[in-house]
Amino acid sequence: SGSLTIVGTGIRLISQITPEARTYIEQAEKLLFVVADLPTIAWLKKINSTSESLSVFYQPGKNRLTTYLEMVERILTCVRDGLKVCVVFYGHPGVFVYPSHEAIKRARLEGFCARMLPAISAEDCLFADLGIDPGTSGCQSFEATDFLVYKRKFDTSSSLILWQFGIVGELSFNPEIRVSRCLPILIEYLQQYYSSDHEVIIYEAAQYHICEPVIQRISLAKVPEVLDAPMSTLYIPPKAPASPDLEMLDRLGIPRSIQE
Ligand code: SAH
Repeated sequence: SGSLTIVGTGIRLISQITPEARTYIEQAEKLLFVVADLPTIAWLKKINSTSESLSVFYQPGKNRLTTYLEMVERILTCVRDGLKVCVVFYGHPGVFVYPSHEAIKRARLEGFCARMLPAISAEDCLFADLGIDPGTSGCQSFEATDFLVYKRKFDTSSSLILWQFGIVGELSFNPEIRVSRCLPILIEYLQQYYSSDHEVIIYEAAQYHICEPVIQRISLAKVPEVLDAPMSTLYIPPKAPASPDLEMLDRLGIPRSIQE
């Protein structure tokens, strides 16, 4: 009977695919993908002749949620046809990807075997390229529009990562938009918490072997001047170190002298 496995390709072309994901890609009876770069698409088509792109559901001006639901429907149709289906997303298939989780949920509800394999996300590349350990001061990750709309609580003494900041406020797909008209609103909002000269990093992981990551260090106030960011992530380093709760140190039996 039909089954569903969702895998990711990582960020750097082909080389970041895990061996287990590769096996599922090769052996699927139906391979669906949401991948934007041409070399990966060519590679998928070469190793699995059943390959079909789900990107056809993206249409300029169409609400993204509508697109995602159409993708889920297409995935489930193939599973219901009794096929071993593999769906490929770039990066980690479960990180800031709606249709993958939704497809798994629905497939399971309908009684099919469905699972997701982990993969390398943009954030994994960020930790490596920027030399940041999320364990040092904690790390908060939000989708930029969600961050504003729900006024997410965050701590300026921990790292803050904002995904999709370049398309903040854009609910429909528009390939023409390189940077959202709402970016100044995000930056103005952040300036309530950080000084305008707080140094932030606009980060884009390299997608090709021969390329270096793009790491732009600029003051927060200058971020709206950036011209091209649909694939970038905003990293905001901690403002000032947190001070330890002395009573808690005592309760934990940690000497007060250890505090940094
Ligand atoms: N599933 C993907 C993320 C999809 S959401 C993953 O696992 O990484 C799209 C967002 O991911 C972008 O707006 C950006 O914030 C981030 N992103 C995607 N590609 C990136 C890259 N090459 N470098 C930095 N961030 C990237």
